[in-house]
Amino acid sequence: MHNTATPFIKRDGINWVSVAVFSVFHVGAVIALFFFTWPAFVAALVLYWVSLSLGIGMGYHRLLTHRSFQTSRWIKYFLAVCGTLALEGGPISWVATHRIHHQFSDKPGDPHTPRDGKWWAHIIWTLVGDSTHSRTAECSRYAPDLYSDRFLVLLSKYNYVPLLIVSVLLLAFGGVDFLLWGVFFRVTMGLHATWMVNSLTHFWGRRRFTTRDDSRNNWLVALLSFGEGWHNNHHAHPTSARHGLAWYEIDMSWMAIRVLQFLGLANSVHVAGL
Ligand SMILES: [Zn+2]
Ligand SMILES: [Zn+2]
Repeated sequence: MHNTATPFIKRDGINWVSVAVFSVFHVGAVIALFFFTWPAFVAALVLYWVSLSLGIGMGYHRLLTHRSFQTSRWIKYFLAVCGTLALEGGPISWVATHRIHHQFSDKPGDPHTPRDGKWWAHIIWTLVGDSTHSRTAECSRYAPDLYSDRFLVLLSKYNYVPLLIVSVLLLAFGGVDFLLWGVFFRVTMGLHATWMVNSLTHFWGRRRFTTRDDSRNNWLVALLSFGEGWHNNHHAHPTSARHGLAWYEIDMSWMAIRVLQFLGLANSVHVAGL
């Protein structure tokens, strides 16, 4: 039996798969700089938005983890597939890890708190132990709602397939510059933007709410992550689909949820007020 205060995630041993994959993507991102073309850059921007805002922000985070709004099964699956394009693993392990983060925020058991070191919270936690592997026991305990969905189980198992297909299409129809920018550069930037939510917004920024964790609101991270950087608001109101609560707190994922709601494609939208 696990003690509830004990992290489920193993923290020892280097995860060579993560080290190899992230190294290749970082090298690819640097090589991309020598193959700059405007069309490839625009493709990267579009895919950056699709993977980080539609996929991670709206899909993995606000819909699947916190159920802050409801939508049709097909939109849910579409957003989840977009999420896999960010190379942050499948929806089930992402959701389980993130729910653990909320349960133990900045306490023993938090998979990525800067209290264990700023670089630990940013990237090292993904390179050590089994955080980026599927951890069946932990996932079934923390994401049973996702486990009951056969498509999400399948997508979690083969989470690298959509990115592989996009890569082949980019190479076939765009060329090497599209592959380097649309996949390697874009994924690397997206990973750091997401990791900044785990690292920077737990020690740098303003605190509007006195939460029991160190979460902060950070405009730079919010800009790069389409609204996820209003992280103190989020920890204070985890089920709110809206993270940027003031008019000047730009939250593009919230805007897209509003568009879905306006079109009648999203309902039961939870919104925290100021
Ligand atoms: Zn947090
Ligand atoms: Zn959250």
